[in-house]
Amino acid sequence: MLLPLSIKRVDGSFQSSLSSGGLVTSLSGLTKSTEFRWFGWPGIEVKDANDRELVSQSLEEQKAIPIFLDSDLAHEHYNGFSNRILWPILHYQSGVTFDDGPWQAYKRVNELFANAIADATDSGNLIWVHDYHLMLLPELLRSRLLQQGKSCAIGFSLHTPFPAGDFWRNLPVRKHLIDGMLSSDLIGFHTEEYKQNFSDTCASLLGARTEIPNQIQYKNRLICIDRFIVGIDPQKFTDALQEPDVQERIRTLEERYNGVKVIIGVDRLDHIKGLTQKLKGFDAFLDDHPELRNKVVLIQVAVPSREDVKEYQELETELSTLAGKINGKHATPEGTPLLYMHRSVPFTELTALYSVADVCLLTSTRDGMNLVSFEYVACQEKRHGVLVLSEFAGAASFMGQGSISFHPANTTELSEAIFRALNLDPSERKKKYEYLRDFVNFNTSARWGQTFTDKLSQRCRRPGDPC
Ligand code: UDP
Repeated sequence: MLLPLSIKRVDGSFQSSLSSGGLVTSLSGLTKSTEFRWFGWPGIEVKDANDRELVSQSLEEQKAIPIFLDSDLAHEHYNGFSNRILWPILHYQSGVTFDDGPWQAYKRVNELFANAIADATDSGNLIWVHDYHLMLLPELLRSRLLQQGKSCAIGFSLHTPFPAGDFWRNLPVRKHLIDGMLSSDLIGFHTEEYKQNFSDTCASLLGARTEIPNQIQYKNRLICIDRFIVGIDPQKFTDALQEPDVQERIRTLEERYNGVKVIIGVDRLDHIKGLTQKLKGFDAFLDDHPELRNKVVLIQVAVPSREDVKEYQELETELSTLAGKINGKHATPEGTPLLYMHRSVPFTELTALYSVADVCLLTSTRDGMNLVSFEYVACQEKRHGVLVLSEFAGAASFMGQGSISFHPANTTELSEAIFRALNLDPSERKKKYEYLRDFVNFNTSARWGQTFTDKLSQRCRRPGDPC
């Protein structure tokens, strides 16, 4: 929904640059073979017509087309509906209250996207819609394209889990959203489980036919669904590790933590990342193993996220209090066992931290994929560190064999998983690392982008073919 660029006002004009997010990387490989344009909200409110023109011109260089939104509308759509209502339901969180105002904003933004994209599209183009902010878009878009006599293949990728049917039923507008997605030709999920949940919901909620694997027949249309493994660009991390400033930082950190095992955690500050469970599990681990006092440190980077949503502010307060209590209980004059950093870190620092960590601890209660697990592996060629990964992260369905898995709500299991990871023998660590390395190197973001668009263009050429 947000364009993958940053845009800023400079001397009365506007400058934009592509951000380095996963989506940009994933699609960068395609720029060689395909011509494409981004559509999205530029992230700032631009009211003046002249300014809008300047923003559009600046974005043109990045092949991006802005969809301007009033800040109130953008806020209600993004925070009000997408992040406060839809996101928690997609991640199995209870206690969500539906509210019609944000829902109207959500619909309106999807319509504005449909208008802008339909007008700028030619027959034969492929359209790839991303994520839960735009679930209504395929349907709105298809009807506008039809009115304009244009025919395009529409793909949709969901970057979150899709919950089991009973949970999805909590949402009073559940049918509209599914209907919206089902106007796509191809829908991509991160795991088999999310795909199956979606298919089951289509059958039970809408009476769609789903007997043939990977196919949904609905309203005389055939929709293909599939699992596409989104990955990272591992080369970017390998290259970064060769940089002199990263190497210098690694040396400094290794000296600082000489004789101490480092556990790293990198998560957006979000309920789904199970940070409360992580800190409680670490507390239990410290209780269970007094012999390891001053010999283990957990460095937790909690990247600020959705700070204007009340629930996220409350979570931050809870976490900083908990971090204080844990250090209050376990600190000694020699040091504190927990470094809780509520901020983002530059890429140099991130890669150095990944590289020096003996263990990476990820405790998501639900998580679409979790790319931090991939990034950690990409920085572990020398150390063969151990990935301790919640069974509820999408990545766990592929990385089970190479990691230590646990249930994040079980504090004892979590404490034992940390202990096991710290004590794994070198040959076992190497085996696990090699398994994960091969997986991460094969399932790159570039491969993900190429696979999805290849399949979508196949649908475009032969829409009636079985999936
Ligand atoms: N990340 C970041 N800033 C930081 C630390 C990490 O942008 O200070 C990145 C991290 O490198 C990773 C992404 O945030 O690429 C998190 O992706 P993930 O899939 O793990 O979780 P999400 O935030 O998408 O739920």
